[in-house]
Amino acid sequence: MMQAPDAVHFQGVGQVFKTATGPLIALDQVNLTLARHEFVAVLGPSGCGKSTLLRLASGLLAPSAGRVSVFGTPMTRPRTDIGIVFQQPTLLPWASVLDNVVFPAKHMRGRVSQKDRAQGLEVLSKVGLSGFQDRLPSELSGGMQQRVGIARALFLNPDILLMDEPFSALDALTRDAMGYELLRLWQASPKTVMFITHSIPEAVLLADRILVMSARPGRVIADLTVPLSRPRDEHALRSAEIQDFAGHLRDLLIKREAA
Ligand code: ADP
Ligand code: MG
Repeated sequence: MMQAPDAVHFQGVGQVFKTATGPLIALDQVNLTLARHEFVAVLGPSGCGKSTLLRLASGLLAPSAGRVSVFGTPMTRPRTDIGIVFQQPTLLPWASVLDNVVFPAKHMRGRVSQKDRAQGLEVLSKVGLSGFQDRLPSELSGGMQQRVGIARALFLNPDILLMDEPFSALDALTRDAMGYELLRLWQASPKTVMFITHSIPEAVLLADRILVMSARPGRVIADLTVPLSRPRDEHALRSAEIQDFAGHLRDLLIKREAA
């Protein structure tokens, strides 16, 4: 029997950028796999190539070397079964919350149908923004704007969700709340998630598996399964086992910084 293809697969992926001071090796020989519906966090220091990795997985960037495939198909262009959440919500400032959420329909089909609008309202309710559809982004808090960005990514009901440090611009409390909310959404409607972060607690709370990256050149230096069952709560994070696991992650990150 044929095995189902991995949702995301990187094989020998390298990325070199031309810069004024010469070529910059952002990623070197990256191999990774995300199984369907797996929640994988990518953890690494600033500048190690996390956003580059995500752009390669999204098809927004073509690799300098190696291969990126999605559900067994080589990636050649952005796909509608992939939703992306950027670090900044990147909303259209003049468009209403609902118009921002249904923007992918407009972008793809040139128009927004009644059905699109109904679907837009539904995803807004899923991220806790019922009643805010007619507001402008500037009328919302940072956390709410980021939820609009998540709703927009969920709007086409993608199989794969790529998230680039989506909560890092938020205050600590909002950030925790958004993490639990994301877990709830993911449990209600499973998706393959690649979640980029530089926060160890965030990676541990959310992910099934954590890929640890080193900088210069960006490489995956560890691939670790989080020793926690689901559902998860604040309690789970306080166990001695999890504290040890987080300590191990910290060692991996610090050692590479110092090296
Ligand atoms: P991270 O998201 O982990 O902070 P990035 O993927 O944004 O890291 O960047 C990795 C490295 O590649 C950095 O040194 C960055 O300056 C460089 N880089 C990223 N994009 C470009 C680009 N378009 N042109 C030149 N250098 C880039
Ligand atoms: Mg980044």
